Amino acid sequence: MARLATRWPDARCELDHRNAFELLCATILAAQSTDRLVNTVTPALFAHWPDAHAMAAAPPDELERAIHSTGFFRMKARHLLGMARALVERHGGEVPADMDALCALPGVARKTANVILGTAFGTDRGVVVDTHVTRLSQRLGLTGESDPVKIERDLMALLPREQWRSFADRLIWHGRRVCFARQPACGLCDLAPLCPSADVPGRAAEAAAGDPTAAGATTAAEAEATATAAADGPFDSAPPALRSGRTGSRSRRSPKPSPSPSPKPSPKPSPSPSPSPKPSPSPSPRPKPSPKPSPRPKPSPKPSPRPKPSPKPSPSPKPSPASRPPRLPRR
Ligand code: SF4
Repeated sequence: MARLATRWPDARCELDHRNAFELLCATILAAQSTDRLVNTVTPALFAHWPDAHAMAAAPPDELERAIHSTGFFRMKARHLLGMARALVERHGGEVPADMDALCALPGVARKTANVILGTAFGTDRGVVVDTHVTRLSQRLGLTGESDPVKIERDLMALLPREQWRSFADRLIWHGRRVCFARQPACGLCDLAPLCPSADVPGRAAEAAAGDPTAAGATTAAEAEATATAAADGPFDSAPPALRSGRTGSRSRRSPKPSPSPSPKPSPKPSPSPSPSPKPSPSPSPRPKPSPKPSPRPKPSPKPSPRPKPSPKPSPSPKPSPASRPPRLPRR
C-alpha cells in the first residue's frame, strides 16, 4: 500500500461529475467503456437531463443517441431510465447513501454502489472491485478468489477501513498505467519486488517499450482491459478472461510454444510421400511379371519387392500363364 501511495498519491475516480447523481450515471455508462470516453459524453447528457426527475422523463431514443458512443447504449439507456425513475419513486429524486438502496436500483450492483458511497458520500462501506482491482489483487497474491464479492471480502480483511477507497483508486490507476491485462510492464512496476507474478524485468521492459500506453496513456490500456470486461449490473462480475489471476502474467509467455507446433507437421508429410510413389508403379508391373520373369528385374523389382502393393498384383498374373493347360484334357 505504501508503494502504491508513493507511486499514485493523487489517484482518484476519473469520471467527471458534480454530484452523486452524475457520478451514478457516469458509473453506469463506464461499464465496458473507458472513463475518458464517458467523460466526453456526460457533459451533453447532464446538460439535457441534469437530475433524476429530468432523466426519468427522457425519451428513450434520445437517451440512446446521447450515450451511443459508450457502447451497449440500449441496455445502458434502460438502466439510466430505470435508475432515474426508481430514484424519483423511492427516494424523491435523490441518490440514497445506502448500500442496499443503491443495489436495488436498475443497473447498480455492489461495485457501483461502492463507487457512489466512497466517492460521492465519503462513506467506506466496501472496496471497489472492478476489472483492474480483480486482476491486480490476484496477481499480487492478495486473493485467490475470482468472484468480486469474495475478492472484496479478502481485501477488506487485509486493509484498514480508511484505506479501502484510496487503495482501490490506486490499484485502478496502476492497472490502467502499468499492470496491463495482457502485457503488464513489470520492468516499470514499483511493486515488482513484492509481486509473485512479476515477470522477467528485461522482457517486461521490452514489452512496455513497445506499448505506447506504458508511459501513462490510458485509453488503449483501458480499452484492452474493458474489452473483455463484464462490468456492472450484470456488469459487476469479473471478466472471465481476466480471472486467470497469477497466470495472467505467465500468459504473455505463450508466444514461446508457437515454434513447437511447426516442427510437428514436418515429420508427418515425410512418411506419407514414401508410400505414395510406390502404388504409382504398381500398375506397370502387372504386365511385366509374366513375359519378363528374371532377365530384366531392374525397373520392376524396385517397386515390387519393397512396397506392399506389389504382392497384390503378383497373385493375379500367376493363374494366367499358359503353361498349365495340360491338366484339363485328362477328363
Ligand atoms: S510486477 Fe508486474 S504483474 Fe506484478 S503488479 Fe507489477 S506490473 Fe503487475
